[in-house]
Amino acid sequence: MSRNIRQIALSQVGDVGQARIGSSTALIIGLGGIGCASASYLASAGVGQLLLCDFDTVDETNLGRQILYGPADVGQLKAVRAASRLAAINPDVRLTEIPDRLSDDALAEAVNQADIVLDGCDNFATRFQVNEAVVSQGRVLVSGAAIRFEGQLAVFGPDYADAPCYRCLYAEADESLDSCAGNGVLAPVPGVIGTAMAVEALKVLAGIEAETGKLNLYDALSTRWQKVAIKKRGNCPTCGKH
Ligand SMILES: [Zn+2]
Repeated sequence: MSRNIRQIALSQVGDVGQARIGSSTALIIGLGGIGCASASYLASAGVGQLLLCDFDTVDETNLGRQILYGPADVGQLKAVRAASRLAAINPDVRLTEIPDRLSDDALAEAVNQADIVLDGCDNFATRFQVNEAVVSQGRVLVSGAAIRFEGQLAVFGPDYADAPCYRCLYAEADESLDSCAGNGVLAPVPGVIGTAMAVEALKVLAGIEAETGKLNLYDALSTRWQKVAIKKRGNCPTCGKH
């Protein structure tokens, strides 16, 4: 099949890497600006199954940056509308809609089904909950956030014994990062982060080494990426006990 032939042409991917991508399942937490971009590329790149998790409905104020939705989707569940659009992008991807606020048990079940978890949600309570589940099940977490002209991206795991987790980076919620509504965001900045998250996820799934435990900070105003090491916290409430 010719869809992914340019990707297969890369020596680091090849038929073997593409087969690994095609037999993988990715759990996408949050189908906002970040999740829309990640999901679009993971679907087009041939990931076997996407689990699409978002309890929210499409609001008109989302349309400026959440590129899977249009005016006809306003008021409908993001998980359902995203699945419909992604099926049109690549009919071969298996799409599972999870339009719920997940309990810890339901989240653990979703993480258990996934080879990799991408978290582009918009609040710390969910990020901490997702981090708990990925650490306890030893999954790779690709985490991203965007606000104003700034974005951040980090890859964690799958081994958390000697390496940091997301909670090592943020011991407590940082409310200045929590809301696009109060802070504003330039429309494509979440797309840059979501796209970079898809790059990291595809590297992991294809068996290409991805750098973990580093915080990558994107500043759209100065067009600059910076990289900062994340220290493992001995007293981390999540990975310290593993
Ligand atoms: Zn930790």
